[in-house]
Amino acid sequence: MSEKAPKKIVLLGATGSIGSSTLRVLRQHKNHLKLIGVSAQTNYKALADICAEFDVSYAVLSEDSAYAAAQGLFPDSTHLFSGREALSELATLSEADTVLVAVVGASGLKPAMAAIEAGKDIALANKELLVLGGSFVIEAAQRKNVRLLPADSEHNAIFQCMEGHPIKQVEKLILTASGGPFRKTKLEDLADVTPARATRHPNWRMGPKITVDSSTMANKGLELMEAHWLFGLEPERLEVVVHPQSMAHSFVQFVDGSILGQFTPPSMTFAIQHCLLYPDRAPSVDPTLDFNQAMQWSFQAPDFKRYPCLRLAYDALHAKGSAPAIFNAANEIAVERFLNHDIPYLEIPRVIEFALDQIPIRTPRSIDDLFEVDAETRARAKIYKR
Ligand code: NDP
Ligand code: MG
Repeated sequence: MSEKAPKKIVLLGATGSIGSSTLRVLRQHKNHLKLIGVSAQTNYKALADICAEFDVSYAVLSEDSAYAAAQGLFPDSTHLFSGREALSELATLSEADTVLVAVVGASGLKPAMAAIEAGKDIALANKELLVLGGSFVIEAAQRKNVRLLPADSEHNAIFQCMEGHPIKQVEKLILTASGGPFRKTKLEDLADVTPARATRHPNWRMGPKITVDSSTMANKGLELMEAHWLFGLEPERLEVVVHPQSMAHSFVQFVDGSILGQFTPPSMTFAIQHCLLYPDRAPSVDPTLDFNQAMQWSFQAPDFKRYPCLRLAYDALHAKGSAPAIFNAANEIAVERFLNHDIPYLEIPRVIEFALDQIPIRTPRSIDDLFEVDAETRARAKIYKR
């Protein structure tokens, strides 16, 4: 790699699963990447440790109560702030080159927009913000000429395969999905799935919300929406294939029938490193695939009876306008209610279907319009009863 000044990185959501994979990448590439800003919601102890280890100048705790408890724990050289506004300020630090958005849910949208408006390159792990505000995010990124580098493994794979190819040569994008922990569970036994079982993924170690989403394939649904915005293709040209080994991270099929793919073992460090060092490359943190070891990979079409959330996601994507935002908010509440033992597992798709049926779909004129749809959907989904 060329010798240049280290790229300055802000990491929103430093204490989460993507956050910890990012810290592993940063440890390995200290000469090329410098962490200057970090955030967490409540986990002030872990955030203080990160600031001490990486000599971080700016930190934000978005929950005010955590900020009060954190006094005296951070290194003297770290400036500590609290609140939602501070998250957007962190995302626009004048020294920052790249902002990695790895907070969960809709909370990522405002700071990501602020970072784009400030001309920062974005590494995007948070998919919900594109699902919610895709049209506005893409418009702003194009207008400000900033890079939107996808850190989600499927989109990172597609980004790598598309590089150098005009979009008119692309026939379709094929997103791989592990199928989650219940791929082989008898359909009638899905009614008994508990939060403890749904938060254990066979291949990936991730936060609880995305792990449940992965088991219902709502995650793949959100990723279809994410792919639609990132690569500008309509749902007819976005496909999903179940690949339980999670080694092939997605494919691009070109008009001449050739299919390109990207392959690594299931660790997020590969995609995160690609985004942070882009366009450079350097040795990986984790060992890559070794074809001296025998491996068997399989691929099959998804079963929409097993994964109704995937069908609902296609429906929402076809309906356009505020429908994806409704899908996202209803799913967030349904997962939260399931994790709190308030509704059974099989009610998750029913909450989403109810919200898509009941809430009028409209064309949002602003991000505030979308936040209104988001709030209305959450309110309705919270009180949904069969
Ligand atoms: P985690 O739940 O593990 O971590 C979330 C991080 O965001 C934590 O630092 C958390 O702080 C902070 N946070 C949570 N809620 C809020 C909020 N309302 N406002 C501000 N900060 C908040 O999530 P993941 O790392 O698994 O996922 C992060 C994003 O990346 C998600 O959008 C997910 O879909 C996406 N993603 C994740 C993958 C993975 O492998 N984990 C793969 C691909 C995409 P605290 O610790 O204080 O709670
Ligand atoms: Mg993914």
